[in-house]
Amino acid sequence: NYTTYDSENIFAKILRGEIPCNKVYEDDHALAFHDINPQAPVHVLVIPKGAYISMMDFTAEAPAELITGFFRAVGHVARDLGLEDAGYRMLANAGADAHQEVPHLHIHLFGGRKLGPMLM
Ligand code: 5GP
Repeated sequence: NYTTYDSENIFAKILRGEIPCNKVYEDDHALAFHDINPQAPVHVLVIPKGAYISMMDFTAEAPAELITGFFRAVGHVARDLGLEDAGYRMLANAGADAHQEVPHLHIHLFGGRKLGPMLM
């Protein structure tokens, strides 16, 4: 697994504004934008501001205020997108076995249709 944060990863570039994204939400702790290859009618990625590779280093090293702010932002985005009535799924791939492709922590938010059973 990655051990040092690569500041040239695509989500770091999005955070710095170097490449565009279709933004749905931003606050001091988090940025949310539509996935470029959506797997559901709503497929949004929520990322923390800060150099975190995955849940592994985030949960070990991030300040409590950022962890709280990040998860509040995920909930805020789901609410803003109208997902609370029908429900939604959150997913975060962490590391090689989980096929994490972009080495900046991101939570996928899926909704807008009835989802199937959890994928393996
Ligand atoms: P992972 O496999 O790392 O959990 O998921 C990475 C996700 O990032 C994929 O769903 C992929 O479609 C999305 N993605 C990759 N590159 C970009 C990009 O440049 N812009 C956006 N908006 N999404 C991207």
